[in-house]
Amino acid sequence: MDMKIALVKGDGIGPDIIDEAVKVLDKVAKKFNHNVEYKEVLAGGVAIDKFNHPLPQESLDTCKACDSVLLGAVGGPKWDNVASELRPEKALLGLRSGLNLFCNLRPAVMYPQLKDACPLKDEIIGDGLDIMVVRELTGGIYFGKRGRDEDSAYDTLSYRRDEIERIVKKAFEIALIRGKKLTSVDKVNILNSSQLWREIVNKMSEDYKDVEVNHLYVDNAAMQLVRNPKQFDTIVTTNMFGDILSDEASQITGSIGMLPSASLGSGTLGMYEPIHGSAPDIAGLDIANPIATILSVSMMLRYSFNLEAEAKAIDQAVFDVLEKGYRTSDIYSANTTKVGTKEMGRLICEAI
Ligand code: NAD
Repeated sequence: MDMKIALVKGDGIGPDIIDEAVKVLDKVAKKFNHNVEYKEVLAGGVAIDKFNHPLPQESLDTCKACDSVLLGAVGGPKWDNVASELRPEKALLGLRSGLNLFCNLRPAVMYPQLKDACPLKDEIIGDGLDIMVVRELTGGIYFGKRGRDEDSAYDTLSYRRDEIERIVKKAFEIALIRGKKLTSVDKVNILNSSQLWREIVNKMSEDYKDVEVNHLYVDNAAMQLVRNPKQFDTIVTTNMFGDILSDEASQITGSIGMLPSASLGSGTLGMYEPIHGSAPDIAGLDIANPIATILSVSMMLRYSFNLEAEAKAIDQAVFDVLEKGYRTSDIYSANTTKVGTKEMGRLICEAI
């Protein structure tokens, strides 16, 4: 397969971690006979420095012309004082809306080797966790009509049928290639938009008979995530509920440097990035954990290119390297071997 990938290294540790992810993608491509072509794209603080804009039109156009986008992270103290419409983070919003990415995938995987980092008790997490939160990304209360005066303020939560249908369909497709269990989270006892949401989930479940479906109120879901997280496989929910629940789910794994994410649209083009930020405190020091970005490459192969064996090769290599006791400093513990960013990338390539 030929793959054209836009690389948005961004700021801070962005270049450090993307370099390792590229090495891993090259290694997988070589092993499985694929061709990868990279287009470097400037976005975030680096683009502000050069073009006085966090996402120049040319950068967006290049991303649109590629098969997929791999992003490091953007932002840092250097740009804290720029005007709010020009902040580096605007590049992320610009890419999501410019590429019409309405579906956010946030896996929360807890590796048995990193159990100590999990704030939950051993008997709750057992041999590890593997949850996927599917969050609607471009609708709902964050994008509804809003307003305020001196003494009142309002935000509107509304969803159209087609907006719900497309995210719910993605979630069913994802549940199908995972554990075949889908939990839809809503607040149907209070919200009209949740009633429409639930109707659509129930109707669509008729087309996905192999997927077991259940519904939870959002308050209960938040509680169940810490009480009995192993009951979850794939969770689908609205923009705001997903924002909150995906952060909660990631925190129960305990390690920010390990978690990838994906933003998908209706076609195959997606944007893949670690969930952490640009970590300016450790930029360029060869200590950042590249695993979240390397696992973002695995998600890209799985969700944009449908290359399951290739994705699994990366997942397994990460598991094997952890099993051998190699750790970057953020996940280091006694009796393990501390390695830098580059060495971690090299070890994962070797394991592939
Ligand atoms: P952060 O995620 O960058 O860092 C939080 C802490 O985690 C820091 O101590 C950092 O050193 C550590 N950390 C993060 N990633 C790590 C990794 N891969 N390996 C080891 N340690 C890691 O969050 P922050 O400090 O709140 O934000 C820093 C900058 O990043 C800000 O400008 C913020 O706006 C930006 N940001 C960008 C994104 C993005 O690009 N998607 C997301 C969040 C924050």
